[in-house]
Amino acid sequence: MSYPSFFPVTPFMAKVLGTYWLFSFLYYHLRISSKKGSTSIEYGINYNVSLVMFAGPFGLMLFETVFRAFVYGYKKLTKTEEPMEGAHAFYNVGSFSLQGIAAYYLFQALIPYAKGEFVSYWLLMIGIIVVTAVLSDLFLIIVFTCLGDIKTLKDVYSFVKSRSLLDLAKTALSNGLLILFLYENNWTAVFGLFLLNYLVSQSYLIKAQSVKDRDERDKYEQMAYTDFLTGVQNRAYLDAKLKEWKESDEPFGIIVTDIDKFKSINDSYNHHVGDRVIQHFAMTLKQHLRSGDVLIRSGGEEFLIFLRQRSHEQCLAIAEEIRAEAERTPVKAEYGDRTAEVRYTASFGLYYSPNRDAVSLEKSCVMADQLLLQAKQEGRNRVVASEGV
Ligand code: GH3
Ligand code: MG
Ligand code: MG
Repeated sequence: MSYPSFFPVTPFMAKVLGTYWLFSFLYYHLRISSKKGSTSIEYGINYNVSLVMFAGPFGLMLFETVFRAFVYGYKKLTKTEEPMEGAHAFYNVGSFSLQGIAAYYLFQALIPYAKGEFVSYWLLMIGIIVVTAVLSDLFLIIVFTCLGDIKTLKDVYSFVKSRSLLDLAKTALSNGLLILFLYENNWTAVFGLFLLNYLVSQSYLIKAQSVKDRDERDKYEQMAYTDFLTGVQNRAYLDAKLKEWKESDEPFGIIVTDIDKFKSINDSYNHHVGDRVIQHFAMTLKQHLRSGDVLIRSGGEEFLIFLRQRSHEQCLAIAEEIRAEAERTPVKAEYGDRTAEVRYTASFGLYYSPNRDAVSLEKSCVMADQLLLQAKQEGRNRVVASEGV
């Protein structure tokens, strides 16, 4: 069958276009898009460089237009379209066609020099991919500058930086192989390569998603266990930890501490100054702990500390150091239009358990609480500790 010469699509081109469309639609959900202001760019392997060699510039533009129309229709149908979706489709067609057409002419011009050698062929492929990536970036930078999403040189830099060398290498290798396979009319290899890339991207996506899910879960857990004002752990964290620690029988000291006459700080100044004092106290406590110890804000201006792997004397010394430092160091806080220097003291109850046999953790906390109460009753600004064992 002969085709009129003005119709630029031959049966071979149609077969190539059909295959590329099929896999582009399949790949569609694997594309990673990154948002830049109101515009979005899609990353992933781009097969246009090999397509254009067999479909020609006209075939490539046809391919891009149909593919983008499909994406547009799909997004409209699933109601996932973004504002200016039409413009996205338009500059994506522009960027990818430009890239492919440049590759086509570069390849035609330079392939005679490659002389069928392995090294020069792949150098040419890499060169073409790099040049076309630069061209398409330039095109996108111009579009984004016109749309107002790129305003400064720094924006340009961060846009260019978002390109991955690994993506360029994957694109060069995939397109280089596809050109060789199509040139040899080896459709088994063409389908094999597309399928392989599909499976690799799919499994990567699943892994990336599960890492993202885990990170998000960790972040929410972290948020749920952190006190908003001071950044130290909160009661929910204590409850979770108590269950975990029930099993071990290491020695530990529990300090319950509470700022003295805190209500009068709130009353003399204001709540904001009160908050600054709580934050300052939390920082002071933190500085005296080491990793493995746990600091919890158990209520308003009251904190609970678990000291681990320490002797009774060491625990007592730490409580005394913190007490002295709180007394010594005034808190600077904004109060109206001046900076107020607020002095405060705190009282401490220390309960020490050389092993876990005698008293449960919960009970130890109650004991430490009672010792704190005793410190308050005895005049505040002091440490009251259980007997050393
Ligand atoms: P004592 O020496 O017996 O501990 O006296 P106190 O005034 O410190 O104790 P009290 O429990 O009577 O007062 C604690 C006050 O702390 C009451 C509450 O309004 C205030 N408070 C609780 N949470 C916060 C907070 O997050 N920020 C501020 N600024 N104040 C708080
Ligand atoms: Mg208090
Ligand atoms: Mg209190």
